Amino acid sequence: MKKHNFSPGPCILPQQVFEKASQAVLDYNGIGLSVMEISHRSKEFIQIMENAQNLALEHLGLQDKGYKALFLQGGASMQFLMASYNLLETKAAYLNTGTWSSKAVKEAKMFGEVMEVASSKDANFNYIPKNYTIPADADYFHCTSNNTIFGTQLRSLPETDVPVVCDMSSDIFSRKLDFSKFSLIYAGAQKNMGPSGTTLVVIKEDILGKVSRSIPSMLDYRVHLEKDSMFNTPPVFAVYVSMLTLEWLKEKGGISSMEKINETKADLLYSEIDRNPLFKGFVANKEDRSPMNATFNLTDESVKEQFDSMWKEAGINGLNGHRSVGGYRASMYNALPLESVQVLVDVMREAERTS
Ligand SMILES: *Cc1c(COP(=O)(O)O)cnc(C)c1O
Repeated sequence: MKKHNFSPGPCILPQQVFEKASQAVLDYNGIGLSVMEISHRSKEFIQIMENAQNLALEHLGLQDKGYKALFLQGGASMQFLMASYNLLETKAAYLNTGTWSSKAVKEAKMFGEVMEVASSKDANFNYIPKNYTIPADADYFHCTSNNTIFGTQLRSLPETDVPVVCDMSSDIFSRKLDFSKFSLIYAGAQKNMGPSGTTLVVIKEDILGKVSRSIPSMLDYRVHLEKDSMFNTPPVFAVYVSMLTLEWLKEKGGISSMEKINETKADLLYSEIDRNPLFKGFVANKEDRSPMNATFNLTDESVKEQFDSMWKEAGINGLNGHRSVGGYRASMYNALPLESVQVLVDVMREAERTS
């Protein structure tokens, strides 16, 4: 039986994607070859890559606006380094809202001055700082749209004239935003788009070529752009499965339909967290809560053993919180059905009744 998968990443993908992908592993479109054994220079794979790139730009509303999409390797963690390598000449502004932002800050410091415009580290990242200024002479402003570990999300973006770079690993394609406000968006595939092994990078071409240092080929966005994501062998299977997920998203009505479903799922769970005396939310302000990753704790640790066995018995997977937060984290990415959230809420109610 398929589990209710609340795993933070790698995570649930649509069942239809798993079915199509498993068929393609055996025989891709009836050509007598697996999708894994065809050349990345074959017309079949070039088609897959182009389709994935076009779908990504289409979903974000960035077609014909000077943006290109790349599927690179090295995860979002590689982008912490690549973004600063390619864009940081003198100083950059970073908003520090969690573990991943902190790691991005660390890498950027190797290339120039890093100004942390604000940080919520003082409260174990349980809120999103609101009042800060981005210096007008910064090369760029970097933020993390959704903090996967702590369960906070940037609901609105600051107004600024400097280029905005955003790590959208855990909420890309989950909600509407004016994506044209960003100059560089990156996202490890394994949170909302596909299997691990590839990273989507959406880049506005005119921000490149402004730093004076020389950049190793594999880390140079211009090299990858010039070769259309085929400078070296791309992660063909990860790109293929990402393409299938982006097709599924289109069938479902795209980001705006997905956002409505995601809000329904989040409302269902957060109202139970707020109502049920056995639980309390980790995030300080309701307006900072992430619809993607809901973090919560028990108010009475003595029921932990019982609650843990109850959710496991109900077929729930991946509910343990990150070690830096403790408690629980329910990750409700695009492919997680509402029904799974209902199962979790029912277990929470049953835990209250029997405790
Ligand atoms: C998971 C995650 C990362 C790290 O991604 P990798 O692909 O493992 O490098 C970075 N940023 C955010 C917001 C994440 O959720």
